Amino acid sequence: MVEIIQSENPVLRKIAKEVPVANITKPKIQKILNDMKVALNSQNDGVAIAAPQIGVSLRIFVVSGRIFDEDFIRGKGSTEKNLYKKPREKDLVFINPVLSKISKDRKLMSEGCLSVRPIYGKVRRATRATVEAYDENGKKFTKSGSGLLAHIFQHETDHLDGILFTDKAKDMYESFDLEEPKEKQ
Ligand code: ZN
Repeated sequence: MVEIIQSENPVLRKIAKEVPVANITKPKIQKILNDMKVALNSQNDGVAIAAPQIGVSLRIFVVSGRIFDEDFIRGKGSTEKNLYKKPREKDLVFINPVLSKISKDRKLMSEGCLSVRPIYGKVRRATRATVEAYDENGKKFTKSGSGLLAHIFQHETDHLDGILFTDKAKDMYESFDLEEPKEKQ
């Protein structure tokens, strides 16, 4: 069982270190990637996770394939039908990610975090973003996203710089209601 670190832990406030590209395919990093996927997929409402959230201060985040599942997003992961549904798309790995482009237009969107349960709040973020990163095979790639994916890119790169969404959010509130339509990053 991989534990998800909660917000009082100082590892979440550290600036995470880059992964030497030559090390990406080595067992140590591959194990970390696997641990991150296991931790992420153990959470019914998880959509993404950054390495510091499992106590590893390296510049890596993983986006769950669930976010490309329209049923999951429409149900926001909260309905009975979706709770135990396996992701159809594979999880996307981003190593040494850099936000290379962000749009000027911003939107307030509700956010939660696997490390700041049970708090939610609204964060103003760019509606479109592009990330350059290395994948799990050490291959460089570029991925653009809008809406939820763009917010995820910004939420996760913040994690790698020791920033939590609660540093930026407004209208924060606590919710223990599992029926509430929310996803967490
Ligand atoms: Zn988070």
